[in-house]
Amino acid sequence: MLTTQRKSLQNPKITMPKAEETVLEIDLKALKHNFLHLKSKLKNNSKFMAVVKAFAYGSDAIEIAKSLQHLGADYFAVAYANEGVELRKAGITLPILVLHPIPSNFKSIIEYNLEPNLYNAKVLNEFIEIATNQNKTDYPVHIKFNTGLNRLGFWKNDVDYITSKLKAKSSVKVVTLFSHLAASEDLNEKEFTTNQINSFKNIADNFINAIGYKPMLHICNTSGILNYPEAHFDMVRGGIGLYGFGNSDKENKFLKPIAALKTMISQIHTIEKGESVGYNRAFISDGFYKTATLPIGHADGIGRQYGNEKGYVLINGKQATIIGNVCMDMIMVNITGIDCKEGDEVVVFNDNATAEALAAKANTISYELITSISQRVKRQFI
Ligand SMILES: *Cc1c(COP(=O)(O)O)cnc(C)c1O
Repeated sequence: MLTTQRKSLQNPKITMPKAEETVLEIDLKALKHNFLHLKSKLKNNSKFMAVVKAFAYGSDAIEIAKSLQHLGADYFAVAYANEGVELRKAGITLPILVLHPIPSNFKSIIEYNLEPNLYNAKVLNEFIEIATNQNKTDYPVHIKFNTGLNRLGFWKNDVDYITSKLKAKSSVKVVTLFSHLAASEDLNEKEFTTNQINSFKNIADNFINAIGYKPMLHICNTSGILNYPEAHFDMVRGGIGLYGFGNSDKENKFLKPIAALKTMISQIHTIEKGESVGYNRAFISDGFYKTATLPIGHADGIGRQYGNEKGYVLINGKQATIIGNVCMDMIMVNITGIDCKEGDEVVVFNDNATAEALAAKANTISYELITSISQRVKRQFI
């Protein structure tokens, strides 16, 4: 083939070779764009904690963290200790908050200089004990308060208990106090969110009075950054926005999805009326069809909920619907009326046909689709 006609209306400069297997292309320029956009929204020089949990939302934690460290992020957050360990082994030097530490990980948290979120009495006491036994002084920790999400965190009336435990030993020091918003993307829940923010302020005031120093405060995730500028405090925690999604059409316009999932056509079949396609004969043809088999399935992150005409892919700019059940390693799509051949590139999602739009077809959200792209899929950086 002499020329590759690529649909790259938004950025004609990008000329990636066409996909010859299933790949997740990651655009580090788009990451930079998103980071700078979110930073431009910050009030009073708030710091930026980049959330890189779950392989940086299914992309690649190490490359993304290296890039963000270079761009000037102030902090990283991961969900679990092992995610932080991987970043340290890759040479990441910024402080790393572990959002959901578990007592069996406390030794490696200290060994790799990670900073735990202490969210209840058990983790507080066990972490203080380990830090004390290791003769640590002022080991950085973070205290999380539950202001309505009812997921992780101390209650407002725990302040005296926490500060008395902290003051009894000098082994740990609180670097930040934080909470998490339950519905920051939903403007119908503005009153609930405002109550969360006010409750957090009160708790923080009480805590600071009782402990005698002022940790940094943070409560905003991406939608909090965009919708609640009055709640940026000393730091924000941006996740999905870095990866290109703002949880609303209005905000999406200013962000660029960093990942494009591409694959190719392995085989084309012609199907007669009455024939079936795939396992359990879930698709029964009502006429003549052309189908393409693609090397991507639920083990790659395209869940079974996208099967049976819910999800679609793009082939030479045209939508091809997934027919029948999604297999572990393959899907079959309807290419009747689409001009294409074996070997042609297929787009599952990119910055035009977004992961958010595809996720909506299966009644889920961009977060779930992008974090599901499995480690089997090759990552390629632009
Ligand atoms: C995942 C997570 C974030 C990031 O949220 P986004 O909506 O992706 O910006 C922030 N804070 C906590 C506690 C989280 O678990």
